Amino acid sequence: MDIPKSHPRYESLLKREKIVEALDKGILAKAGLIAHGRGETFDYLIGEKTTDIALESIKAAAALLVLAENPVISVNGNTVALAKEDVVKLAKELNGKIEVNLFYRTREREEKIKKEFEKEIENGEIRLLGVDDANKQIPNLDSLRGKVSEEGIYTADVVLVPLEDGDRTEALIMMGKKVISIDLNPLSRTARKSTITIVDELTRCLPLLIKYVREYKNKSRDELEDIVNNYNNKENLKRMLNYIADRLKSLEID
Ligand code: ATP
Ligand code: MG
Repeated sequence: MDIPKSHPRYESLLKREKIVEALDKGILAKAGLIAHGRGETFDYLIGEKTTDIALESIKAAAALLVLAENPVISVNGNTVALAKEDVVKLAKELNGKIEVNLFYRTREREEKIKKEFEKEIENGEIRLLGVDDANKQIPNLDSLRGKVSEEGIYTADVVLVPLEDGDRTEALIMMGKKVISIDLNPLSRTARKSTITIVDELTRCLPLLIKYVREYKNKSRDELEDIVNNYNNKENLKRMLNYIADRLKSLEID
């Protein structure tokens, strides 16, 4: 479909196209469509821009990722459909680890996602985990959803989970991991359970996250630890809810 650039909802329509295309290619599960729609709704309420509140969580997340010894970026169908290029860029700034971790895991979809990434990855800077090596099990999760790679999520100290499910976030936290989630819904269990929740749209916040990771590599560990320690996720989510409420109350309907 040709979406005219002048369309007021151009960006949003383009994302929908990518999501539908990923469904057709077998990368996305049907439930991924619903997840996307839920995200769109919250983005409408937020005003479809990165708030200063989200920017604070992006900075805290960047600091935590630079401090991490073994960070892993977990990807699902929606993330691959919308942002695989930026996921690869971010992984290159870190230790290069990306793990495929699907809610509805099928061999076919794993293989397709692997192929999608292979187009983006040159000369072995990136390790794509979780497809052939998901031999470990996250405790307290059913067997299919809890399968992870030993080198990846299983031993990671920090896991970045865009568009994650609440159960799995909680299980990772129970394993003692720090979890950074990207989720437009500040009320989701994922948002409430994560160490750091970025309440922003995935494709809008990834370039910012990459920018701050690059910048923060020049900071001392002390400075980075200060950024992380001064961040309070509960308070950030509360401010986000207040932001949405205030914004809705002051909107003019013309
Ligand atoms: P939880 O299991 O955490 O309570 P949920 O079950 O309500 O969440 P899911 O459908 O499991 O929600 O997960 C999809 C989440 O991803 C939603 O909260 C949605 O807001 C968010 N989401 C969808 N698309 C995007 C996007 N492009 N950027 C950021 N967040 C998104
Ligand atoms: Mg869920």
